[in-house]
Amino acid sequence: MATIGFIGLGNMGGPMAINLVKAGHSVKAFDLSQDAIAKVVAEGGQAAATAAEAATDVEFLVTMLPAGKHVEGLMVTGETPLFDVVADGTLIIDSSTIDADTAKRVAATGADRGISFIDAPVSGGVGGAVAGTLAFMVGASDEQFAKAKPILDCMGKNIFHAGDNGAGQVAKACNNMLLAILMTGTSEALNMGVKNGLDPAVLSEIMKQSSGNNWSLQVYNPFPGVMEGVPSSNDYQGGFQVDLMFKDLGLAMELSQQSASPTPMGSQARALFNLHKANGNGGLDFSSVLRLYQDQ
Ligand code: NAD
Repeated sequence: MATIGFIGLGNMGGPMAINLVKAGHSVKAFDLSQDAIAKVVAEGGQAAATAAEAATDVEFLVTMLPAGKHVEGLMVTGETPLFDVVADGTLIIDSSTIDADTAKRVAATGADRGISFIDAPVSGGVGGAVAGTLAFMVGASDEQFAKAKPILDCMGKNIFHAGDNGAGQVAKACNNMLLAILMTGTSEALNMGVKNGLDPAVLSEIMKQSSGNNWSLQVYNPFPGVMEGVPSSNDYQGGFQVDLMFKDLGLAMELSQQSASPTPMGSQARALFNLHKANGNGGLDFSSVLRLYQDQ
């Protein structure tokens, strides 16, 4: 059993922290929201009054925050930097999706001070976080990866060592750019089929068994009523917000620019999500991008 601090108990972090508790670890949980802390405490976690308290005297510190500015603020530039608080030997595992540059910079600042900070963003959505079946993409040294793996195993099914610090975030940006392209493409095809008289469920099944098959059709159909238990059948509530997908596509575009990698499909997907967000849909699940086509 390990002592673990956990900061950021939102849609993803909450269930991830609960899975660590269920695996028998001692978890000190902190979030800006008291309700979020209460949910973890109800499952056997301990409430921390501050981020610094969650980070003190723990073997591992896991963070699951919105963006790079939150992670760097908390670790390095904020009022009480956690790098001033963590004990020697604490391994900090940042599972937030942030830009690779910030991940590398924070890791390098930590390394200068003898602090281990690794990036371990995830894929699998809220369902994967609850079920403990997330995929982790880890940017770390071999030694750091080996130390983190038993902890990540409590929250995920597939744990990948992508490379050195920042490599996890590069893998995540590539994956989510592809996901955005697949979701917009699937929405485009479904809308065209339905406008031409097809039943969305029948068309989905045909494409799923044909060469258009992809993750969106398999487990996250964007058309309301085709699949049970997904956001499209719940008025696009819960799931993975348009705002977060738009953020992730921004991270992909930054990488594309820095490395001069052509990403015309990623740019187009970003433009579509930008338009959808500008129409007031930032808080909806990203599969609601289907509505953009329906409203044309
Ligand atoms: P969320 O908004 O539900 O949760 C973020 C939590 O962080 C909130 O509870 C907020 O109160 C807390 N927080 C923010 N600043 C804080 C601070 N300084 N101290 C303590 N707590 C603070 O977001 P989420 O959906 O859980 O996503 C978290 C991260 O995971 C994001 O980087 C996102 O891109 C990534 N992600 C999300 C999904 C998904 O399906 N939702 C999937 C994969 C990756």
